Formats: sequence, C-alpha cells, structure tokens
Amino acid sequence: KQIAELIAAGEVVERPSSVVKELVENSIDAGASAITVEIQNGGVTYIRVTDNGSGIQRDDIPTAFLRHATSKVHTQEDLDHIGTLGFRGEALASIAAVSKVELLTCAKGEMIGSHYRIEGGEEVDMEDAGCPEGTTFIIRDLFYNTPARIKFLKKDVTEANAVAGVLDRIALSHPEVSIKFIRSGKEVLLTPGDGDLLSDVYAVFGRDFAKNLLPVDYTLHGIRVHGYISKPTAARPNRSMQYFFINSRVVRSRTAMAALEESCKGSVMVGRFPASVLHLEVALEGVDVNVHPAKIEVRFVNERPVFDAVYHACKNALQKEDD
Ligand code: ADP
Ligand code: MG
Repeated sequence: KQIAELIAAGEVVERPSSVVKELVENSIDAGASAITVEIQNGGVTYIRVTDNGSGIQRDDIPTAFLRHATSKVHTQEDLDHIGTLGFRGEALASIAAVSKVELLTCAKGEMIGSHYRIEGGEEVDMEDAGCPEGTTFIIRDLFYNTPARIKFLKKDVTEANAVAGVLDRIALSHPEVSIKFIRSGKEVLLTPGDGDLLSDVYAVFGRDFAKNLLPVDYTLHGIRVHGYISKPTAARPNRSMQYFFINSRVVRSRTAMAALEESCKGSVMVGRFPASVLHLEVALEGVDVNVHPAKIEVRFVNERPVFDAVYHACKNALQKEDD
C-alpha cells in the first residue's frame, strides 16, 4: 500500500512547481481573492501558500488528505462539466505522502481554527489555533522520504524558475485574484487582482512588452476569445510566449496555437511565432479536462469551432491594426 501511494503520488507531484500549482488551484477553488506563495531553495525545503478563501472545517481535514477525496465532484454527471480547477482529490494525498505538511486553516464562521501536521502520509497532530479566515499550507522537505526522486530535481534556481512560470500562468488565468510571489525573501510578483487582464500582463511581462500587444475580443459559435496577441512586428523566435486559457484553466491546446499562427500568415512578422495571452470561454460540456494527470491537456468535443473562433478573433484584431 505504501509503495502504491508513492507511485501514484509521482503523477501529480513531480517537483516544487507541481506542488505550488496544486495548492494555488485549491486556493482559487476555495474562492480566495488573494494568494501569497513563498518559497525557499527553489521550493525544495520550503513552500508556503496562504489564501483568504473558505478555509477547511476541522472535521473535513483528515478526509481532505485521503486519496480520491474531493469535495468538488459528486456524481458522474459532475465530471462532464467540471467548473473547478481540482476534481481528482489526489493532490493533498500525493503531497503529504512525500513531504512534511503543516496546515493552518480557519473556516468561515468558525470561532477557532485548526493546526494540523502530516508527514510522509502519517498524521502527526491536530490542535486548536487562532488564525484569520482562510488557509495556509507549508510544505517542507519535498521527497525527504523518497531519496531517489530528489535526484531528478534540478538546481534550486531552475526549480524556482519553474515555480515562477506556474505563477505567471495562474496570474494571467485569474485576473480577479491577487497573486503575490516571494522568492527567497524577495517579492518578485504582485498582481492587483482588479479583474483587468492588462494589469496581469504588466505585472508578469512588464510594460514594454505590453506596448506591443493588440487587444482581442471576439465571439464565434458561442466561443468567446479575448485577451491580447503581439503586433506582427513583435513576433517571437519560438512559442514560449504563447499563453492560452480555457475557462480560466491553464492549458496547452494545439488547435488554438495552430489557429493563432494561421491567422498571422500573410502579416509581415519579425519572428515566426506570435505571442498571445488569450482566454477562451467555452461551454463546460464542450471541454474534456479529465485527460491528463496534471490537467494541462484538454480535449474539445469539437475542435473545429475552437479553431475558427481563435482564427477569426486574431484576424479581426490584426485587421483593426491595419486600418
Ligand atoms: P481536489 O482539488 O481535486 O478536490 P485536493 O487533494 O487538491 O483535491 O484537495 C482535497 C480537498 O481539500 C478539496 O476538495 C477541498 O475540499 C479541500 N481543500 C484543499 N485546499 C483547500 C484550500 N486552500 N481552501 C479550502 N479547502 C481546501
Ligand atoms: Mg486540488
């Protein structure tokens, strides 16, 4: 059983950035409007995620760490239109199996909060605690009990960069949530959470980059495509600046990428690849997010309308620029 636990854990918890991604997604699902992430040593020795979300009731805490314990999906039907970022109930179990976890949480309306510790999947203690509404997770010594997996970790700076990349994407996917990132004691990202995507583009990429963007907002076949693409003169040498979000979920979508690139053919571009920060809003029934353990890959029930919507949205933005 122990071994099975650890193997399954590997699917979601590969490195510090995967821990951060899962914890921050949980904070967003809990309705947080402000989330702070702090790491030390690339997140290998220390990760803290603090949110002002719903908190977790005392009785629900041990269950939350059980595998396949999710409070978000109840029926087969729920699985067909997943509106939350989490749905597998695997993250906390997987993280707790391979690290030392400290949880401080106070549920809305509760007088007293809880301080819970679980290490290597074993409960250590549960105490009363005074704390503000919301939740703090501290993850220490990732993979301390699975030395073989420590070998797969890269240098601290590389791991920290991966965490930064995850937080950039999450910030861009949720303009209504303020994200703060403290890296080895230094604040390196702060988004205002004012709901304006441009604020996040400024915070993540800087104002110079933002100057070279065209606004996009277009609806086709019931699919709304909005955000920004680069001016053709600001196209890039590779795809590293192509960001897509579907229903506020960070995704990789070949279809959306292909449509973006196709729409720019004929424009005189400096690099071959346009940059993009594009949000797609699609009916929940039209997307299958239950494809990939890290939930990055999505499948559309119908790819064609998605291609067309992205294609025409970008064409339209480029045309406006030409006029
Ligand atoms: P999932 O997100 O798929 O439900 P997780 O293992 O990530 O599974 O989390 C298990 C449960 O713990 C969640 O369903 C939720 O009820 C609770 N939970 C986790 N993090 C938080 C948080 N920051 N605030 C409130 N509840 C949380
Ligand atoms: Mg989750």
